[in-house]
Amino acid sequence: AAEKDKASNVAKIKVVVRKRPLNKRELAKNEEDIITIEPHSNFLTVHETKLKVDLTEYVEKHEFVFDAVLNEEVSNDEVYHETVEPIVPIIFQRTKATCFAYGQTGSGKTYTMKPLPLKASRDILRLMHHTYRNQGFQLFVSFFEIYGGKLYDLLSDRKKLCMREDGKQQVCIVGLQEYKVSDVETIKDLIEKGNATRSTGTTADGNESKPPRVVGKLSFIDLAGSERGADTTDNDKQTRMEGAEINKSLLALKECIRALDNDQGHIPFRGSKLTEVLRDSFVGNSRTVMISCISPNSGSCEHTLNTLRYADRVK
Ligand code: ADP
Ligand code: MG
Repeated sequence: AAEKDKASNVAKIKVVVRKRPLNKRELAKNEEDIITIEPHSNFLTVHETKLKVDLTEYVEKHEFVFDAVLNEEVSNDEVYHETVEPIVPIIFQRTKATCFAYGQTGSGKTYTMKPLPLKASRDILRLMHHTYRNQGFQLFVSFFEIYGGKLYDLLSDRKKLCMREDGKQQVCIVGLQEYKVSDVETIKDLIEKGNATRSTGTTADGNESKPPRVVGKLSFIDLAGSERGADTTDNDKQTRMEGAEINKSLLALKECIRALDNDQGHIPFRGSKLTEVLRDSFVGNSRTVMISCISPNSGSCEHTLNTLRYADRVK
């Protein structure tokens, strides 16, 4: 019963914003940091510089409130503590959980997401070997990428995969390698191997428990740069197609997360490959953590506001 309570205490959707520090290039250009975050608060302010008709400058302030707001001094350990750590125990309660990183290219999505699966695996294994010892739990790792609307297995030389739905509405990725793992070192090697094989597109990886007892699933999604969804006017046909696909995924993702929050019967997961793959993570008792990554520099103001508005709407 205590474990059940643990699950119901974890919010269905948690939106966390993480701001990265100014980088060397931005500092060299004397770019301003336009994001202020009160330490230990959950709100932030974007200071946007605008021009009046007479071309004098003025600053418009945009205030946002989220479940948690992490400033540039927050470490990856603290990010894990705030985002994924609370949902690890609930995957032992047959619950699916997903953690996304959203934001423009260069805002810190990969920096934020990369350490999370390993940190989570450590905790999952600890729970398996202690609290849930001898209860038949097994941990499986898979790592795949969605690129141009197609699925590729990153643990098996980018083998092209396809998807199927079984009778019980479970999504099955045909041929996806799932490695049974029982120690952190093996998981680390698998993650490194997968990372070396990925391209720069949308990436998803998950730790899955599969039959004999399908229990929980914890997925980590490192999304493509959010600005690329808007970038459908590029001259290059390939870039344009990728942009359109990314846009579709991000829109569909937002709709699915919102449907989850409203306990809506109809989940619009057919909107994109990403949401189709994650279909079983948008039903019933699932949990979602969205980490919105933002750049602090004035040059990114428009993208930052778009990212924060997207996160606001997911809430
Ligand atoms: P994205 O995946 O969103 O395109 P990256 O994660 O690759 O962005 O980050 C861009 C650059 O900024 C990388 O060099 C990364 O190391 C650095 N960076 C991102 N977030 C942080 C942070 N919180 N602290 C220090 N450096 C960071
Ligand atoms: Mg990245």
